[in-house]
Amino acid sequence: MRPLAILALVSLCWLAGCAADAEPAAAPAASTTPPPELTMEDVLKLTDADWKRRLTPEQYSVLRRKGTEPAFCGGYTATKHHGEGTYHCAGCGVALFTSETKFDSGSGWPSFFQPIPGRIAEERDASHGMERIEVHCARCGGHMGHLFDDGPRPTGMRYCINAVSLTFVAKAPAEKK
Ligand SMILES: [Zn+2]
Repeated sequence: MRPLAILALVSLCWLAGCAADAEPAAAPAASTTPPPELTMEDVLKLTDADWKRRLTPEQYSVLRRKGTEPAFCGGYTATKHHGEGTYHCAGCGVALFTSETKFDSGSGWPSFFQPIPGRIAEERDASHGMERIEVHCARCGGHMGHLFDDGPRPTGMRYCINAVSLTFVAKAPAEKK
């Protein structure tokens, strides 16, 4: 049932506009400066209209409306394009995942086997006729993606995340002596 569900999702996403043979989006130049971070207090003050102003239409659709971006379009599908670093919430800037926990799932979405502890919250999601676990940023509630139990060791979990929900911050190169 689960592989079928994934297949259905991927097919849906292709229909949504990203050709099956499309190249992954060109990786944006990775910054080594973390994005400004919103506090919980900041987040609570933000209205829906504020989020709409702060985010791109794609980010708003995924983060605040739980949309799903087309597979293979997000630009973070190849770990090697980005190397070592940290993946921050595109909504509030808090660090959610590190590159050490990223793996190539072949799903077309950035996949991680473990979040930074306490940064990701889970919720049951029965939408689209599927029983899934939705995952979101524990700070701002921004929708990230879904959690599956077919990931690699050591956790066996697969956090399937929309690239548009993430901001990658590259690890600063070590100081030269
Ligand atoms: Zn957030």
